[in-house]
Amino acid sequence: MTEHRDGNSLAGALADIFAAEITSAQVQCRACGLATTLAQLLVYGPEPGYVGRCPGCAEHVLRVAKTPAGTWLDLGGSTSLLFSTMAPSPTGAASSARTGRVSS
Ligand SMILES: [Zn+2]
Repeated sequence: MTEHRDGNSLAGALADIFAAEITSAQVQCRACGLATTLAQLLVYGPEPGYVGRCPGCAEHVLRVAKTPAGTWLDLGGSTSLLFSTMAPSPTGAASSARTGRVSS
């Protein structure tokens, strides 16, 4: 068994991710496997919360809801988020690609 630390050890690695421009992050739809940027999702809301749906199959990929307790982020419709280290294209649009599923 490997040695482990508490969740505070994630702070450095996650600080770069959550300081990044989130709409350029690539998200993969759990239902159909389409990989696209958050900016390309079909978004409904804001009440009772935002729902981002896949442009390929219309299934929900993520949900964001503000409540008195805080902001909830549900990524249950996605398999992963990729925060690319590559520069965005000149048009700001990233290409979409259908990829294989990633098990989680
Ligand atoms: Zn989809």
